[in-house]
Amino acid sequence: MINGILIEKTEESQTTALRQIEAEDLPEGDVLVDIAWSTLNYKDALAITGSSPVVRKFPMVPGIDFAGRVNESAHPDFKPGDQVILNGWGVGETHWGGLAEQARVKGDWLVALPDGLSARDAMVVGTAGYTAMLCVMALERQGVTPADGPVVVTGAAGGVGSVATMLLANRGYEVAAVTGRMSEEAYLRDLGAATIVPRSELEGKLRPLNKERWAAGIDVAGSTVLANVLSSMQYRGTVACCGLAAGMDLPASVAPFILRGVTLVGVDSVMCPHAERREAWDRIAAELDLSKLERISTEVPLSEVIETAPKFLTGNVRGRIVVPVSPDIG
Ligand code: NDP
Repeated sequence: MINGILIEKTEESQTTALRQIEAEDLPEGDVLVDIAWSTLNYKDALAITGSSPVVRKFPMVPGIDFAGRVNESAHPDFKPGDQVILNGWGVGETHWGGLAEQARVKGDWLVALPDGLSARDAMVVGTAGYTAMLCVMALERQGVTPADGPVVVTGAAGGVGSVATMLLANRGYEVAAVTGRMSEEAYLRDLGAATIVPRSELEGKLRPLNKERWAAGIDVAGSTVLANVLSSMQYRGTVACCGLAAGMDLPASVAPFILRGVTLVGVDSVMCPHAERREAWDRIAAELDLSKLERISTEVPLSEVIETAPKFLTGNVRGRIVVPVSPDIG
């Protein structure tokens, strides 16, 4: 038996509880992983609270990411004892995920833990941080450099935003951190933000074009916030869009695109090709200031995950929440 969080659904309701699960009930896969650390992400909160149809198969073990040690493997790239990371691929949505003591998954979904990162470090970064790196890579693919001007990051005190702020500042970018929580100013400056922008500045009535403020942006919010970011871009600015914390809609005009040559790049971490995710993890290991990871992380035991999840939906989570499932094996 293993301990794990299980989401079950009847016609009337959804129930989520920490349960003992038969290990033989784990879904099919060619690698069995003993999970050392997992995390709690915005998407996990949606799944656990049932507030959005993230889970597409029941019963489901939530948890879109984990780091751990291979227990059994029939995959040529992995052997027992190897340290691995998993992000996405529908894990925690259509395939049992990381908020349990073991997971059985496809070896093709795993990435070897890069040198220089512990399993805990990798999960402090987690899917949020790996997505932040994919956003940085997306901007740089469009030719963005620190010399172009300031880069705006929305939802800066959250998971993606905190790591994006750290990564950009570390690469020499001037970061403008947008937050709805001005009480987090000291935290954001400590991560490397040069200026703090109250979120209210980006929630007002939309004008097709605003004053040119930023050369690039990483947006986790969507909706009016993203629309205002787009209309505040400098000529030929680029925005990487990865989230919907403010909403799924985009009440924008085409003015920034056709009058300022702005580029909007979509970023998806779930089905991201293997080579790109390995590059992202290698760059995280090489570039992230590990000494700052402690400041962005809070530990929540598996037994408190369910009561913690709703905090994401009210925007009350600072940085990253990590879950020590079996930390001794990490
Ligand atoms: P968090 O909850 O940790 O952070 C989200 C942050 O957004 C909050 O901390 C808050 O920051 C800000 N925020 C909250 N409500 C609003 C609002 N109404 N309007 C504008 N900003 C708001 O979540 P994550 O960082 O883990 O994820 C952020 C988003 O990115 C989510 O929508 C998530 O689904 C998405 N995501 C997408 C991925 C992909 O593959 N495309 C992968 C990972 C995440 P502050 O208080 O500083 O304003």
